[in-house]
Amino acid sequence: MNKKIRLVHSIHFKIPMLFILLLLVSLQLIGAYFIRELETKMISNFDSQMSLNAGFLEKTLQPTLMDDDAEQLEVSVQTILSDFTGANILETQVMDEQGYIIGINDQTLQSLIGTKSTDRDVQQVILLDAPSSYQYVKEDTNSRVLKIISPIYSTDNTGTLIGVLVMESNIESVYSQMSQTVSIFLNASVVAIIITIVLAVIISRGLTRPISEMRRQTANIADGDYSGKVTVYGADELGELAETINDLSYKVKDAQETTESERQRLDSVLRHMTDGVLATDRRGKIIIINSRAMDLLSISQDRAIGQSIMKVLKLGEKFTFRQLLETQDELILNIPTDDQDTILRGEFSVIQRESGFISGLVCVLSDITEQEKVEQERRSFVSNVSHELRTPLTSVKSYTESLIDGAWEDKEIAPEFLKVISTETDRMIRMITDLLNLSRMDQGKQELNLEFVSINELVAHIIDRFEMVLKSEQYRNKKYKIERDFTQRTLWVEIDQDKFIQVIDNIMNNAIKYSPDGGKITCRLMETHNSIVISITDEGLGIPRKDIGHVFDRFYRVDKARARSMGGTGLGLAISKEVVQLHGGKIWVTSVENKGSTFFISLPYIPMDEEDEWG
Ligand code: ADP
Repeated sequence: MNKKIRLVHSIHFKIPMLFILLLLVSLQLIGAYFIRELETKMISNFDSQMSLNAGFLEKTLQPTLMDDDAEQLEVSVQTILSDFTGANILETQVMDEQGYIIGINDQTLQSLIGTKSTDRDVQQVILLDAPSSYQYVKEDTNSRVLKIISPIYSTDNTGTLIGVLVMESNIESVYSQMSQTVSIFLNASVVAIIITIVLAVIISRGLTRPISEMRRQTANIADGDYSGKVTVYGADELGELAETINDLSYKVKDAQETTESERQRLDSVLRHMTDGVLATDRRGKIIIINSRAMDLLSISQDRAIGQSIMKVLKLGEKFTFRQLLETQDELILNIPTDDQDTILRGEFSVIQRESGFISGLVCVLSDITEQEKVEQERRSFVSNVSHELRTPLTSVKSYTESLIDGAWEDKEIAPEFLKVISTETDRMIRMITDLLNLSRMDQGKQELNLEFVSINELVAHIIDRFEMVLKSEQYRNKKYKIERDFTQRTLWVEIDQDKFIQVIDNIMNNAIKYSPDGGKITCRLMETHNSIVISITDEGLGIPRKDIGHVFDRFYRVDKARARSMGGTGLGLAISKEVVQLHGGKIWVTSVENKGSTFFISLPYIPMDEEDEWG
C-alpha cells in the first residue's frame, strides 16, 4: 500500500523542474534577444562615433591637403595627426591621391612617410572613389579593430580626390563592455535560478506535504486505522480535499463500526441458535458454520470451512449443488449422520442479490430425531391399538355369527363359544383399562396414593398368593418353585400399595407365563445405601438380546402369537415402567435366551433410625 514514489516521479521534483525549465527558456529567449540588440547598438554607436572622428579629421585635413607645398604638407599633416587624439583611436594614416603616405601618427612608423602605401584597402578606395569600413582582428595584439578608409575631397567646386584617410580604432573595449554585460546577465540568471529553485522547493513542499499527509491518511483508512486526522493547511482546493478526507475517515469508521456490531450481533445470534446454520459461497464452499451445526454434523470448524456443503451434508448422491440453488423454496431433507439415531432436517435458502446474482446458500439444520421418534411411536401406537382390538373383535364377531347361524341350539358348542366370547371381551376390557391407565399417567393425571408400607411384608404377601395359585389344578403338573431371598431388615417405603402390587403381579405373572416348563422363580429383596432393589428371576424362555431394549415398550412382544395366546396385552411392562418411574424408581431386565430372565425394580430409600421408626 505504502509504495515509495521515486524522486523523479514525485511532485516534489516535478514542480521545481518545471519552474527551472520555464525560467531557463525565458532567460534564453530574453538573453539572446537582449544581447544581440545590445551588441548591434553598441557597435553601431562605436561605428558612428568613429565615423564622426574620421569626418572631423577629414575636415581638418582638407585645407592642408589642398596646399601645394609638399614639404610643408607633410609637416602640417603630421602636426594635425599628432594633435588629433581620441579615445580608442589606434592609428591614423593620411595618403595623397596616389596612395603615398603623407602622415602617420605612430612615431615608430615615421619611416614609411613618402612611401607608397601597401594597404590594399587604400588602393581600393582610390580606385572605387568610395569610403569603406570593416572590422578585423589585428594579428600582433589579437584584438578587434575597426578600420575606416575614407577618401578626402577638395573643398572647391571640383570636389576632386585629394587624399585618403585610414583610421584604425580599438573596438575591443566595446566587446569587453559587452562581455561584462553578458556576465552580469548570466550572474543575475544564476541568482534567479537559485531563487527559483528555493521558491519552487518551498512551494512544492507546501503542495506535497498536505498531499503526502492525505495519502498516508487514506492508506491508514484502507488499513482500518481511523484515528489520524489530516491537517487542513488552508482554504484552497487541497484544504477542501483534506476536509473531505477527514469526513470520509469519520464516515468509513462509522460504517465499519456498524458493520462490526452487525457482525457481532449475527455472530452471537448464530452462536446461541438452537438450530445449526451453514452458509456457503456461490460455489457451495462453506464460509460460516455455527457451533450447533458443528455438533450436529460432528465436524470441527477447521475441517468444515472451505469444504463443499454437498460433502459435509453427504448430499452428493441425491442432489447436485445446482439443483439445491435452483430450488427457490425451502427444501426439507433427512440428512444421515454418523450417528444413525440422529435425523436432521435441512432448510435451504438461496442468497440472491436484487440483480439476480446468486451469492450463496444458507442451510438451517434442526435435530428432529425426538420429533420423528414421537411421530413414529404415535403411528405405531395407533396401528397397534387397532390391531390389538381387531383380533379379539374378529373372534367375538365370528363366534357370535356362528351362534346366530344356529350354533346356539347346540348345547355343547354354545357354552364353549360363549366362553370364548367372554374371554375375548375380558381381554379387550383389560386392554382398554390398561390403555386408560397409561393415558392417565401420560397426561400426568395419575395421582399416587402414598403410604408407608413394609416392602418385606408386601412382597411376601404377593408371593404367598402366587404360591397358592401354583398349587391350583392348572399348574399342579408343572413344577414351579418360588424361592425368597429377603434382607433381614424391615424396609419401610412410601408407595402406592395397589399400583405397586400390580407391578409385582405383572412381573410374577410373566415369570410364570414365559417359563412354560416350570422351574425356579427367585424373588430377592436387597438394600443398598440409598435404594431398595427387588429382583425376580425365572428359568424360562429368556429374552433375545435384540429385544431386551424394547420389552418395556407399549405393545412390544418378543413372540407375538405366543404372548397373545397367553392372554397378554403387551402393555403390562409398559405400565409397570410408568408406575415405577412415578415412584422415582427404575425398572430393568437382564436375560439370557433359553436360560431365563431377571427383572429388577429399584426404589429410592432413606434408612430410618430405630428411634425414628418407633418414635
Ligand atoms: P404381555 O402382556 O405380552 O406379557 P408384557 O408387557 O408384560 O406384555 O411383556 C412384554 C413382552 O416381554 C412379552 O410379550 C414377552 O415377550 C416379554 N417378557 C416379559 N417377561 C418375560 C419373562 N419373564 N421371560 C421372557 N420374556 C418375557
